[in-house]
Amino acid sequence: MAEEKRWQGQAWAESEHWSITVWQDEHKQLEPIYQIRIPLPFSLRWVNAYAMRESDHTGWTIVDPGLRTPQAEAAWQEVLDKLSIHVGSLRQIILTHYHPDHLGMAGMLQQKYEVPVVLSRIGWQHAVMLWGDGNQMAQRIQQLMRMHGAPEEVMGMLGEHMDSFETCVSPLPEVTYINDGDELVFGGRTWAAIETHGHAPGHISFYNKEHGLLLAGDHVLPQITPNVSYMPGSDPQPLLLYLEGLKKLSGLEVELVLPGHRNPFYQYHSRIDYLLQHHEERLAEWHGMLVREPMTAYQLCTRIFGNVGRLTVHQFRFAMGETLSHLIELERRGQVNCEQSLEPVGDVRVWSACTQRTECTIS
Ligand SMILES: [Zn+2]
Repeated sequence: MAEEKRWQGQAWAESEHWSITVWQDEHKQLEPIYQIRIPLPFSLRWVNAYAMRESDHTGWTIVDPGLRTPQAEAAWQEVLDKLSIHVGSLRQIILTHYHPDHLGMAGMLQQKYEVPVVLSRIGWQHAVMLWGDGNQMAQRIQQLMRMHGAPEEVMGMLGEHMDSFETCVSPLPEVTYINDGDELVFGGRTWAAIETHGHAPGHISFYNKEHGLLLAGDHVLPQITPNVSYMPGSDPQPLLLYLEGLKKLSGLEVELVLPGHRNPFYQYHSRIDYLLQHHEERLAEWHGMLVREPMTAYQLCTRIFGNVGRLTVHQFRFAMGETLSHLIELERRGQVNCEQSLEPVGDVRVWSACTQRTECTIS
């Protein structure tokens, strides 16, 4: 018997660069949730912002306003007009995580509407590490890529690419911290903050148990597998933390998932199962490739995802990050070993599979 869907989405308004879908319960008794597609200049195409009004109609909360670009700014102007959100009626901005495609517009909107911006402490530390004054992130990423065999010609592109985000997140907001386990009331509902790591350190999903709603940010996405990257200065074991996060979230009863990208969806548990299995399959497959021949992370990455010419620099950074996060997890499991190359290629690291588990040391 097909289960009745308690929540239905209906297209409500749109323009060339944005659209709004209204999600409502079947009896239309609860405050609707407005899913706002804000444009992104990369292949993800849009980020979902969500707007919710208090049940006494006194104010609004916006979740994840998106990357700051001229198109996104123009979109927000029209969207806020359409929803009749003005200075005084916007109450707060809540961020699921610090990634630029979620946080970027927050500082600008904060200044215009004079509202608090809520983010986890770890999320804020990462925002500062990436875009704070005097940050060294471009150099640290170049160093990491070099150590793992990426060719010199991508270094310049990587540097420019990292720097290009700064205008898309400026100004950085002043943030109010939120912690794992906190309860927030917004949009006429109570939401529990659930912290996970791996896609983004300090990522917060918001769970409304009463109605089975989860604002999932990017930890659980439909159709696309959330990127899990190793990043210098951040989580040392991102894939392990990501998988633990999925297991933590799998205990929730969720009817409708409101994700950061693509569209809200219902099959929460099967999606989590798929994501868990997907990473196990990848680990097995990549381990198998290293059994056949030792490789640098860069060589493995290009065999799996294609070389730099095929990928944009953005995709290349994600592909290398994803390759490294899986190698680190294989190393933790005692299946691969990372050693200095014996070939005279500087300090480039080569990964090899362990023939006997006992041969491996976990570093
Ligand atoms: Zn993200």
